[in-house]
Amino acid sequence: MSMKTWIMLVLIILLTAGCGRREKEKSGPMTYVTIGTGGVTGVYYPTGGAISKIVNQKSDIYNLNLSAESTGGSVYNINAIMNGDMAFGIVQSDRQAQAYGGEAEWEDAGPQEKLRSVFSIHPETVTILAAVDAGIENINDLVGKTVNIGNPGSGNRGNAIDALENAGMDWRIDLKAEGMKATEASRMLQEGRIDAFFYTVGHPSSSFREATSGRRKVRFIPITAVEDLLDKYSYYARSWIPIEFYPNADNKENVPSYGVKATLCISSDIPEEIVYAVTREIFENFEEFKTLHPAYGILTKENMLEGLTAPIHSGAMKYYIEAGLK
Ligand code: GLU
Repeated sequence: MSMKTWIMLVLIILLTAGCGRREKEKSGPMTYVTIGTGGVTGVYYPTGGAISKIVNQKSDIYNLNLSAESTGGSVYNINAIMNGDMAFGIVQSDRQAQAYGGEAEWEDAGPQEKLRSVFSIHPETVTILAAVDAGIENINDLVGKTVNIGNPGSGNRGNAIDALENAGMDWRIDLKAEGMKATEASRMLQEGRIDAFFYTVGHPSSSFREATSGRRKVRFIPITAVEDLLDKYSYYARSWIPIEFYPNADNKENVPSYGVKATLCISSDIPEEIVYAVTREIFENFEEFKTLHPAYGILTKENMLEGLTAPIHSGAMKYYIEAGLK
């Protein structure tokens, strides 16, 4: 554990030891732990809330209190975990693989060898939403348009760049690329300040509900010629946008695309008991957890162990072995 994390933990323990003494006499001081998520209109933020809600039901037993914090997204979360600024982070499976392997944003810093995965959660689809009046029907129509590809701390920015390159475009030259957070993009699209935006997110998300519910007519853009991307990167899989969630979009059918998985990550420095407690509570209260967001509809205990590209943390592994899942 980094010095900074130690100091933080010690401070928290000292601060809480005093005020919680009477209630916690038997069980000791509370440890407060943060989960880095994404923008408040994405699915990571409510997911951080859902995980916290389940685990905090047993706060008194584990002396553990979780809370979700809104952040810039996957890349930010990985860096915060590695710096010891946050314990948990929700991270796209492709970003987890890149960080662990020292690729993409981590090319200079090198492999993030202490990165560990806990479990995977909902699938995330690389999604493009465009204004109907901008005349965009396929990805190549983005040429010359003002398009939000996402803020640098997000996971989705890299997916947008990959998708554009795969379609033969250079995001720096062929379009006017914006670097805003997805939370702002919905409003910017409705206000006519951008023509389209990319967001890799679970469905349904408040972002797309908001962006499809305004006066400006919008449509999702299919991304179909992805064979090369799927061949090159094992973390990408075909996916689609379930249109039932967005009745006001111009599309009438599900929209084909491709995507990744949201995963819960942590550093190997975080104590086993904490990771064990979180894993155990989510899996033991699995049916309740699944009701907390419609994007969890397809989750099974088994598929929550798929898409993990960094090694599983020993605290999580302890539970999986106990539960016969590994
Ligand atoms: N996939 C996005 C990212 O990594 C976040 C999506 C969300 O917040 O639900 O930045």
